Amino acid sequence: MNLPAVALRGLCVLPKMAINFDVSRERSKEAVQFAMLHGQKIFLVTQKSEKVEKPEAKDIYNVGVIADIKQMVKLPGGQMRVLAVGKSVARIISVETSGAYLEVEVEELENGIPEDTDEVTREAMLRILKEEMMKFLQGNQNVGKEVIHALSKVNDIVELMEVAPIHMPFSVEEKQTILEILDFSERYAYLVQLITRENEVRRIRDELQAKVRGKVEKNQKDYVLREQMKVIREELGEDPQSDADLLAEKIEALEAADSVKEHLRKELSRYRMMSGAAAEAAVQRNYLDTMLALPWNKSTEDSTDLKRAEEILDRDHYGLEKVKERVLEYLAVRSVTGKGDAPILCLVGPPGTGKTSIAKSIAESLNKKYVRICLGGVRDEAEIRGHRRTYIGSMPGRLVAALTQAGVNNPVMLLDELDKLGSDYKGDPSAALLEVLDGEQNSQFRDHYVEIPVDLSEVLFIATANDMHTIPAPLLDRLEIIEISSYTENEKMHIATEFLVEKQMKKNGLKDGSLSISSRALKKIIHHYTREAGVRNLERKIGDICRKAVKEQLDKGCKKTRVSEQNLEKYLGREKRFFDQVNENDQIGVVRGLAWTPVGGDTLEIEAILMPGTGKLQLTGQMGDVMKESAQLALSYARMMSDRFELPEGFFEQHDIHLHIPEGAVPKDGPSAGITMTTALVSAISQKKVRANLAMTGEVTLTGRVLMIGGLKEKLLAAKMAGITNILVPERNKPDVEEMSAEITKGMDIRFVSTMEQVLEAALV
Ligand code: ADP
Repeated sequence: MNLPAVALRGLCVLPKMAINFDVSRERSKEAVQFAMLHGQKIFLVTQKSEKVEKPEAKDIYNVGVIADIKQMVKLPGGQMRVLAVGKSVARIISVETSGAYLEVEVEELENGIPEDTDEVTREAMLRILKEEMMKFLQGNQNVGKEVIHALSKVNDIVELMEVAPIHMPFSVEEKQTILEILDFSERYAYLVQLITRENEVRRIRDELQAKVRGKVEKNQKDYVLREQMKVIREELGEDPQSDADLLAEKIEALEAADSVKEHLRKELSRYRMMSGAAAEAAVQRNYLDTMLALPWNKSTEDSTDLKRAEEILDRDHYGLEKVKERVLEYLAVRSVTGKGDAPILCLVGPPGTGKTSIAKSIAESLNKKYVRICLGGVRDEAEIRGHRRTYIGSMPGRLVAALTQAGVNNPVMLLDELDKLGSDYKGDPSAALLEVLDGEQNSQFRDHYVEIPVDLSEVLFIATANDMHTIPAPLLDRLEIIEISSYTENEKMHIATEFLVEKQMKKNGLKDGSLSISSRALKKIIHHYTREAGVRNLERKIGDICRKAVKEQLDKGCKKTRVSEQNLEKYLGREKRFFDQVNENDQIGVVRGLAWTPVGGDTLEIEAILMPGTGKLQLTGQMGDVMKESAQLALSYARMMSDRFELPEGFFEQHDIHLHIPEGAVPKDGPSAGITMTTALVSAISQKKVRANLAMTGEVTLTGRVLMIGGLKEKLLAAKMAGITNILVPERNKPDVEEMSAEITKGMDIRFVSTMEQVLEAALV
């Protein structure tokens, strides 16, 4: 069959499809005109590329459609509008391009459903295709209801196959493929595949769109809400920039590890969710502020100049040679081995002996910041580790608070009064401290409040204590103990003249040379106005004088104040006879002992009396358990001795003995009053007097041996202050005495004793 042909650009016509197209190319117009005159049949074929102006055989597809032209209208401008309906598929056999129009020789192709297809297969094919199409069309807003209705009426698979592509958005190439597949079931499969794919594409597209829309909507909503909030804030007179935003800026600017920042960002977003007025928000806000104030990665540069360290220690402290030497050794070792392994320095000594002040000097010499944590009376673990954030008013523990106060992560941290640490049912603070003081663990210190680990490994801890014996044992294990003992009178004089007077003058605004305190006056202050191992009260008294001097100079307009032994009373009031004095007379049953206490040495007078009774021993006064046992022991020894004194038969059954330790605010306990109590008892039993100008210290065994005691330096100083010159000291303490500076032993008659008999011989008149 020879037919005129029109090459279509960007169009593909299928059988049963009605199509409107405009023709402008001359050859195509000729073809249409020819067809109109000869039975209105035309061959419509698609051009492979739209760009080709005058297509040859190679430029068009091989298969097209024979169509009937239903209508032809001439448009202004020479174009023609053609309405045609596809009839049947045909393949080109040959193409003639030399004429006025494109002429082709074609043969019709058979592409119908095979005759032998059974009903059930037809029905199945129909349903599947219809279902997929409905799915597609119903979801498509551009498709009218009539179309869907019409389609639902189609009950023949062949018909549906023909109308399906008309309603689907297939590309030209896809339509061409449909045209070219002659096998019915193959074409069917291809068609179903195309529609299913379209449905799938649409499903995914819808999902994506929904997501995007959701996001856009949320952004818009947030934006509107923020704007509203801004307006509300402005109305309330609050800072329009939300404080959460300010916090966010601070978090970004914080010098801290990424993990910390990430944690804070999360906490901030929680904070943003809470409404501004709720108590919960206040807690959260507080938390963020606390976290931001912590010095995560902020540090100061250390100085390793040991020479300078020595200069500063010397500049601030008189004497203390051994202490300074050990501190410098410690610093030297630390600078070599690094912080990890070094034990914690612990300064042990009575109050006012310069422990805090040494720690401060260490901080200064290392160029470190200094903070102090007072552990006295801390019984609750939460004070060290903080409270969980769930409590209202919860706070970080003292360590984190101190770190915040220091503002850097490598300060010197003074753990003051480590020996006063308590523990009760609320947990053991020393266990928490143990973690802090362990160089291996403290880089991951966990505060309950802070939640994330805090690095304490850069901190230089220094501890102080009055009494080494009450420091919890596991803590003691990690400490390097440096003992500071009481000052002698001479040392106190030096400290006063070289340091304290100048320091207090400066503090109270007195100019150089406007105040002089004679050395006799100072001695009197030390002796009669203070009673202490250290120099804290001495410093306080000097401060009192300074203040009085300032007032005097203002009142009277004078330039200089002189304080002497005579006019001291004017500045400090009546002197107080603090120290026990030598007993006036030798007495029965009264013996002076020497005691060590955490705040320095002391003298204690032990009294014993004998009275008619039934053989009881009564103990009163400041006595601990150890002392009570010592008293029992003393009594047994005294009874053993009694045959020497020719006591009547049944003497002990007919007498009670009362032993008492008068006065003394500081509880004393320990075995070192053993010989003192024994002497008092023996004196009372035998009714022999004890020498007044004598003091003693020593532990006694049941058989009367005298054992060594501790704290001898403090005890001797106390005796000296009380003006007692005859001292009995256990033989085994001889090396201690030999080591002592001549200043302490000068003018003292120290006798060494090794048995109770020697003691009694020296003590009883
Ligand atoms: P502690 O901590 O041992 O109780 P401090 O360090 O507070 O005692 O000392 C109390 C005061 O005495 C401080 O002003 C300190 O400077 C001063 N001080 C103590 N010992 C000396 C000393 N050896 N040289 C100079 N001043 C001293």
